[in-house]
Amino acid sequence: MRIEDDYKLDYTDVLIRPKRSTLGSRKDVELEREFRFRNYRGNGEHYRGIPIMASNMDGVGTFAMADALARLGLFTCLVKSYDADELIGFFAAGDSARRENVAYSTGITEQDYAKFGDVYARTGGQLKYVCVDVANGYSERFSEFIKQLREACPEVVIIAGNVVTGEMTEELILSGADIVKVGIGPGSVCTTRIQTGVGFPQLSAVIECADSAHGLGGHIIADGGCTCAGDVAKAFAAGADFVMLGGLLAGHDEGGGDIITRHFKTGEVRPLGDAWEDVVEERKYVNFYGMSSKAANEKHFGGLKEYRSSEGREIQVPYRGRIDDTIQDLLGGIRSTCTYAGAKKLKWLSKCTTFVKTGEQFNKVFDGH
Ligand code: 5GP
Repeated sequence: MRIEDDYKLDYTDVLIRPKRSTLGSRKDVELEREFRFRNYRGNGEHYRGIPIMASNMDGVGTFAMADALARLGLFTCLVKSYDADELIGFFAAGDSARRENVAYSTGITEQDYAKFGDVYARTGGQLKYVCVDVANGYSERFSEFIKQLREACPEVVIIAGNVVTGEMTEELILSGADIVKVGIGPGSVCTTRIQTGVGFPQLSAVIECADSAHGLGGHIIADGGCTCAGDVAKAFAAGADFVMLGGLLAGHDEGGGDIITRHFKTGEVRPLGDAWEDVVEERKYVNFYGMSSKAANEKHFGGLKEYRSSEGREIQVPYRGRIDDTIQDLLGGIRSTCTYAGAKKLKWLSKCTTFVKTGEQFNKVFDGH
């Protein structure tokens, strides 16, 4: 057994120090980024857009979300559960916005590989991004899969994850991945830390993996743990090229899912004839669950396999209508961060950032959390 002595940090452990800046207004901030990918050999456009991604989770990574976000210049990783015909219909029918802003997601079983091969062959070059997504990106089998996919498809951009350390980020990039997805345990509906004791504080994971990836000309996604626009800004400030969101994008029309209406007594009363009645408020919710939760396993695989435990939970999130307002709010927050930090472009935010530690990490140690 070995213990690492230095403290690792989460988003809540730091704040961004404001700096004197020449920026007039937040509307002058440029959020679009352009990337050239390390291993991609296609002759299509390299990436250009606002590098925020919807996660491949139920209620988030849907076709409707992909189209809505593509319109706003953002990116979506589709859920794995669409069948081959649905995916072919989606990619083949789309304009270049789908090609440039949407990823096909896959696991690493033989069936997964066969399904991808089928869709790839039948979408006629319209499929540019593939997200190879497993809970634990540390297995040899995973790197082997990435190598096999890279050899077979030089003309796709490969996103691979999840990992949380520099050496594994490097291994995946050297195996053929272009973008490494970083995060084990920080997700809003993830219970891996509780169920297994495994994880890594997300801000430090992003800092360390970004450093390793950038040294090789690769890119990373900070995946999971963002609870507000400020966390997304901190992820970019820490060096993330992309930020992936689940919970922050859940609860919208584009995610599908039934709306559940609940009634709450507000604690107030009002006169009703000779009596008084409780004031009741109506609130709307949508179910949201982790992709390895019991709910997801029941929906997609007919239940949890005997040897597996659930590493996700099921919650209800407030229903929030259309995605556009949420995105506007989110982007407004990030623009404002850039103004405070003196970064005219999102690209420069990381270079302009000084993080101050808030002492939260010590409170956690002393509280025994
Ligand atoms: P959020 O933005 O909600 O904090 O995190 C989203 C990320 O949580 C996803 O992109 C994915 O990496 C991770 N995630 C989704 N479902 C599960 C799950 O059931 N278990 C675990 N451990 N992680 C999950």
